[in-house]
Amino acid sequence: MIEYYDVSGCYILRPWSYSIWESIKDFFDKEIKKMGIENTYFPLFVSEKALTKEKDHVEGFAPEVAWVTRSGDSQLEEPIAIRPTSETVMYPIFSKWIRGHRDLPLRINQWCNVVRWEFKHPTPFIRSREFLWQEGHTAFATKDEADVEVHQILELYRRVYEELLAVPVIKGVKSEVEKFAGGLYTTTVEAFIPATGRGVQGATSHCLGQNFAKMFEIFFEDENRERKMVWQNSWGLTTRTIGVMVMVHGDNKGLVLPPRVAPIQVVVIPVPFKGIDPSDECLKVTRQLQEAGFRVKDDLRDNYSPGWKYSHWELKGVPLRIEIGPRDIEKKQVRVVRRDLEDKTEGRSQDIPMADLAVKIGEILETMQKALLEKAREEHDSCIVVAENWDDFMTALNNKKMVLAPWCDEVEVEESVKARTKGEAGAAKTLCMPFEQDTLPMVSNTIAEGTKCFASGKPAKKWALWGRSY
Ligand code: AMP
Repeated sequence: MIEYYDVSGCYILRPWSYSIWESIKDFFDKEIKKMGIENTYFPLFVSEKALTKEKDHVEGFAPEVAWVTRSGDSQLEEPIAIRPTSETVMYPIFSKWIRGHRDLPLRINQWCNVVRWEFKHPTPFIRSREFLWQEGHTAFATKDEADVEVHQILELYRRVYEELLAVPVIKGVKSEVEKFAGGLYTTTVEAFIPATGRGVQGATSHCLGQNFAKMFEIFFEDENRERKMVWQNSWGLTTRTIGVMVMVHGDNKGLVLPPRVAPIQVVVIPVPFKGIDPSDECLKVTRQLQEAGFRVKDDLRDNYSPGWKYSHWELKGVPLRIEIGPRDIEKKQVRVVRRDLEDKTEGRSQDIPMADLAVKIGEILETMQKALLEKAREEHDSCIVVAENWDDFMTALNNKKMVLAPWCDEVEVEESVKARTKGEAGAAKTLCMPFEQDTLPMVSNTIAEGTKCFASGKPAKKWALWGRSY
């Protein structure tokens, strides 16, 4: 998936992982284009003047901004920042492009890299210093329109995780402490890694309100010729997605790739016996499946044994393997083996008549895609614990769970929970305040009268999901 590199926190994405990013990109790009959003490209560099215009925003990002201070032997007159995100790159231009209500909504997106000189421990995909993402930036005449889009995009992010990567997520809104610097509110899809007991912010869709519009003077004249400020959103999904998928599905043999994003969905391996080499039959099957639209590869290398090849492709996570030996050819069938099921599990391997192959392979891939999400969801849901007091909260946290707890929604209380839980495993924080969703123990985010905050004992206002996180 990656190769290490000699600049700390930067990783090389090898074709195997880049191809997964391309699948995500294809899906998301098509969906936003359906919504009328257009792709664009803005420069990598930001002037200091633009970067520092919105006070909260720059305060949030300042520690992670990388600067160019020199070119060749000469010092630059003014240092130039490398974009950590492009609000301050794009919005001076928005103020030029938006004049009247007919210029709205303005909805653009770019696929690019950004640099955040993270000081927390870098982790491939999950937290790197340079990463690939899409960033959408939009401006509307009214807050209502902006609110609608925030949720449409969040739903697309949910679909990327659940429908493509087979990773369950929880949708919600971030606390004041955790929201995007300079924004009005941040919505999120939160994923969870049961193996480590940590939450991970999957992707975020922000309503920026009018803070940036004020600082960058993005005004428009409405139908009544009144001068008004726009309402803005920004939203981003990164290569972190791949890391989450790896950690949720991987097992002791290596990667397990969901069929919808696997660079190769089926590998075809000949199993020679008593001098009979089934390679020609393998080539035929490969071609037949490729023509039916599947991503298929045959592995005809004669310097490796079939057993070696099985482990090799299992390690790489290929969803299905087809084995063909002389007996299979006689019986006009092939053996199909699923990567996601343990050895000897029912359904892991089946003999399929050649005549039905394309249809059956399609069905098995579909079944596997669903099964991966179901298995991940079962594990995910078993990691949510409801706690109404501090002791239960700490027990759940130390058992590597996410904790759903009634909360007073005060900044100082979140800070104090962080301080009280600080330890080797890292502090707990709010992951989100979940929206209504039927996969959670709470159906709506309303609190019964008289419920107390688990941490402060003050009247609780919301259910918040807490956890240690990446
Ligand atoms: P933001 O614009 O800060 O909300 O970031 C958008 C998304 O990028 C977040 O929701 C994270 O999922 C992801 N992200 C943030 N920092 C990193 C990083 N260092 N490496 C990879 N992904 C990141």
